Amino acid sequence: MSLDYLTMTIKKEKNIALIAHDGKKQEMLEWCAKNKEILRNHKLSGTGTTARMITEHVGLSVKGYNSGPLGGDQQIGAKIVEGKIDMVIFFSDPLAAQPHDPDVKALLRIAQVYDIPMANNIATADFLIHSSYMDQEYSHQIENFKNAVENRAKNVN
Ligand code: PGA
Repeated sequence: MSLDYLTMTIKKEKNIALIAHDGKKQEMLEWCAKNKEILRNHKLSGTGTTARMITEHVGLSVKGYNSGPLGGDQQIGAKIVEGKIDMVIFFSDPLAAQPHDPDVKALLRIAQVYDIPMANNIATADFLIHSSYMDQEYSHQIENFKNAVENRAKNVN
């Protein structure tokens, strides 16, 4: 691989962010309950309401950021940039308009930039959570942000 990429390692214990729009919160609670024994081996975080509901109804410990419409998705995006979130389970609602749609798009984009495994429906989440990579380290290539800054500083007038 060229200097344009860096090898990053996702550890065996993963930092997983959980987000569900209101119309999908019940699905998220059921999915977390079904996969509780796997999820309890990882570090969980989520947008405010989703995190609180999983903690209360499923009994998993989930660190809560702000509520999604109040910036929670952006906080999670920032943690991806810092290398502190390894995986995102995001049950967005395709049938309801969201006031924070730009934030949702931004999160999808930044997860793509950093090659973050991300599920946006139950079937994808099931495939992810039952992947053999859940139990081992995983190395992947991401943009070399340091080189990108150096190149841009040299080439943009
Ligand atoms: P919430 O945010 O967990 O606080 O409801 C989720 C979202 O709407 O992005």
